[in-house]
Amino acid sequence: MTDIFARKALLQKGWADNVRFGINAGRITDLTPNKSPESADFVAGIVIPGLCNAHSHAFQRALAGRTEERSPAGQDSFWTWRERMYELAARMDAESLAAIAAQAYSEMLASGYTSVAEFHYLHRESGSEQHDGAMFNAICQAANNSGIGLTYVPVLYERAGFDKPKPEGQQKFFALDVESFLEHHARASEIAGDRVCVGIGAHSLRAVGKESLLEIAAAATDAKIPLHLHIAEQQREVDECLSVYGRRPVSWLLDNFDVDNRWCLVHATHMDADETKNLANSGAVVCLCPSTEANLGDGLFPLHDYLINGGQIAIGSDSHISINPFEELRWLEYGQRLAAQCRNVVSLEQSHVGHELFSRVLTGGASACAQESVGLQVGASADLVTLYDADPMLVGHDGTTLLDALVFSGYRLPIERVMVGGDWRVVDGKHVDQEDTRAAYAATLERLGAVQ
Ligand SMILES: [Zn+2]
Repeated sequence: MTDIFARKALLQKGWADNVRFGINAGRITDLTPNKSPESADFVAGIVIPGLCNAHSHAFQRALAGRTEERSPAGQDSFWTWRERMYELAARMDAESLAAIAAQAYSEMLASGYTSVAEFHYLHRESGSEQHDGAMFNAICQAANNSGIGLTYVPVLYERAGFDKPKPEGQQKFFALDVESFLEHHARASEIAGDRVCVGIGAHSLRAVGKESLLEIAAAATDAKIPLHLHIAEQQREVDECLSVYGRRPVSWLLDNFDVDNRWCLVHATHMDADETKNLANSGAVVCLCPSTEANLGDGLFPLHDYLINGGQIAIGSDSHISINPFEELRWLEYGQRLAAQCRNVVSLEQSHVGHELFSRVLTGGASACAQESVGLQVGASADLVTLYDADPMLVGHDGTTLLDALVFSGYRLPIERVMVGGDWRVVDGKHVDQEDTRAAYAATLERLGAVQ
């Protein structure tokens, strides 16, 4: 039993003062406001729930900051970045993946994410024809060592494009046929154990054909698990889909599949007005990754129109160009302000943007990660973040503006501790295994050679 006192806490019902948390076997067993701090195991200034990072490619952490120079051709785009990413993927073995993922996950924890959906298509080690589960084990090992909650999302990648039925070049490192993929999914589900949720995924409409996607959707329905899919991230994908399928990607998907709240569509950047409304009405969660979408020059999601039609959202750090949920939320709002030339766009249900953004992605992330409960309430997993209430960023704020301050007034986070499933994983602002994780990450980069 761990007993925490918080001078202020954001519970699922709203802000409360002087809250005692009882935590037993990894779950919140008691939550009582208006208590005293006497004899608590830990006294916190502010406690908020941890967020789910609903879209991660952990290995791409090793590419962050290494693709920002103009290429000789001067025509840099998502597609030229993808070539660099493929080069990294082709060098990845299980040992490297475990070390890089552990670094990414420890950074996630230190910035306030307590769980992650790993969108995983690196099914083969570098130089190996086998897809024997070594890379899946590496992801589980990294999550276990760092302590982050893992939703493993194995992803099918089977072809190079809408009219290219086979994988090409380095795509062969992650391509599987649908039967082998479903076998891997079944095996992963069996051995995942209590600490790991398992979802299922298809890379994108361009990389997975209709028949295979139907099989994946059926598997998701049978197992009652989330189905993750990249969609409409780049205009070129929309143009190719129009040319081969005769429909825009989101429109084609909604016409051919029973998209519901089990689906997590990643990006959905390029939608017309009907797609935006119909996707919002479907109940699906859209996972937005603003720092990656900006870094890759994807475009801007029609957030306001999607939300006023009832759309659900989550956030992800995707390529890990930045790992900071509050920065994702800040840029989510700022992109809309810049485009619309106005302020306070995501203030549709609450007048404070920080609170509304945080609440929306807390709920959407829990759905995308197959978590049975949302936020801090009795019975939920004890996944929480403690903040220094005397930090200049937060001092003097009450519940009405605390999340506005956290989202908008800086990138340095006043995080003191982070707990996942009842265990402290971050103490005094640092991941408890920070030194060892960093050393293994540095050694891995050296072993991989210059990642260019
Ligand atoms: Zn992605």
